[in-house]
Amino acid sequence: MEPVSKMQQPLVAVSTDVRQFDNYTWHAAPQQYIEAAIAGADVFPLLVPSFGDRLDFDELLSSVDGVMVTGSKSNVHPSLYGGDPSEANGPYDPARDSTTLPLIRKAIERGVPLLAICRGIQELNVALGGTLGTEIQEREGSLDHRAPVSENQDERFGIHQTISIKPGTCLAGVFGAGDIKVNSLHRQAIDRLGSKLQVEALATDGTIEAVSVKEARAFAVGVQWHPEYWVKSDSNSAKIFRAFGDAVRLHAAAKAGARAAAE
Ligand code: MN
Repeated sequence: MEPVSKMQQPLVAVSTDVRQFDNYTWHAAPQQYIEAAIAGADVFPLLVPSFGDRLDFDELLSSVDGVMVTGSKSNVHPSLYGGDPSEANGPYDPARDSTTLPLIRKAIERGVPLLAICRGIQELNVALGGTLGTEIQEREGSLDHRAPVSENQDERFGIHQTISIKPGTCLAGVFGAGDIKVNSLHRQAIDRLGSKLQVEALATDGTIEAVSVKEARAFAVGVQWHPEYWVKSDSNSAKIFRAFGDAVRLHAAAKAGARAAAE
């Protein structure tokens, strides 16, 4: 009898944060995202160290079939979108910025599927020339998009915020148009939208909660919320990762097809 072969998992490049601990500098990603990529998208997450232009991103992007940019405690450095850094706005992670921004631009250029979560959607916007607003809960008429104050992670990541998905968008194809509930744990959001981006979803106070790349050659979506956290129990969270995984498999199949045709 033939052994049951494990289904092939296409490779997906995953961003990393640079952190200091145990007297070493680490390039790491939170397990939540890596596990969601495996459980929700059925892909092989490959962590990319944050060494900026010392890395050949074209080489990487010819080897992987997707890119996932994670959330983080750090913020994009304001100098990258014409803002001023401040203690309150930090911490920053310039090594990550110097890696994710070119990686995002090149992934879009090459039509490699992209899922950008939380800090990721902010990096996607800045990579395409947009700006970010900070401490958005202090704006007139704005909701508080921060996590509730709690030691309990499940409470902090609770699904409480209503967003509305615009009809005709990529996410309308994933969820259907209309309202869904998501978790919200951010104090920054997109201010001016980057060129080549379109709004996919808005919170009830008008905050941009999801975007996609206009005329993208593949799935290229950013979400301000955290689908990775409840990927195993919330069907909408699962749907995003499934859609991303499907796009990654489609890209892998197209690449295999092009290789076969060339032989
Ligand atoms: Mn929000």
